[in-house]
Amino acid sequence: MNIIMLGAPGAGKGTQAAVLCEHLNIPTISTGNIIREALRTGTEMGLKAKSYMDAGQLVPDEVVIGIVKDRLQEDDCKNGYILDGFPRTIPQAEALDEMGANIDCVIDIEVEDDVIVNRLSGRRVCENCGRPYHIESLKPKVDGVCDDCNGALVQRKDDQIDTIKNRLDIYHKETEPLVNYYKAQGKLKVVVGKDTVKETTEAVFKAIEV
Ligand code: AMP
Repeated sequence: MNIIMLGAPGAGKGTQAAVLCEHLNIPTISTGNIIREALRTGTEMGLKAKSYMDAGQLVPDEVVIGIVKDRLQEDDCKNGYILDGFPRTIPQAEALDEMGANIDCVIDIEVEDDVIVNRLSGRRVCENCGRPYHIESLKPKVDGVCDDCNGALVQRKDDQIDTIKNRLDIYHKETEPLVNYYKAQGKLKVVVGKDTVKETTEAVFKAIEV
């Protein structure tokens, strides 16, 4: 199954993608994580993306489209994949269609803006594997340490409060139009984001009947 996770930053796309990835045994492709990794290892693409990312702006379409095109050609995508954080603009969605991606369903996780602000400002991520946590609602077993890989938990620069509003504005302007784009293709499944990860997961599983 080829799945797109849609929704505002902080809606829970990454967390739900991780659950689905384990359940369906298919890889998650997170453009945000790929770009952060490129930044960490200092590649040319990473350096180019840094200023956009730190300011909470979108990296230019041609850069992310290139990343996804390459990644989808890898062997582990043959039996399906979950796209997390891509597409984020109409031109990206059109490029995905042109790649012949055959998307089966698009899960749109809907969460109110004020809930998003609280979530993102309290979010911490593993600097090693990218797994997300929250200072109140999704704590690791050991304070400041990732349950999966023992990496240190840090706050993303773009999760600082002044950048969050900017990211939400961009989401409403650039990404939300994808809801109608995929509705028109008959692929949209709307899931109302709940207070707990477990409840949201149940709603996601119900939406895609897995
Ligand atoms: P995320 O981890 O998905 O919130 O992505 C973090 C940042 O990476 C975004 O704020 C953008 O700067 C960049 N990014 C990730 N995915 C995309 C995309 N599909 N299009 C443009 N920029 C992206």
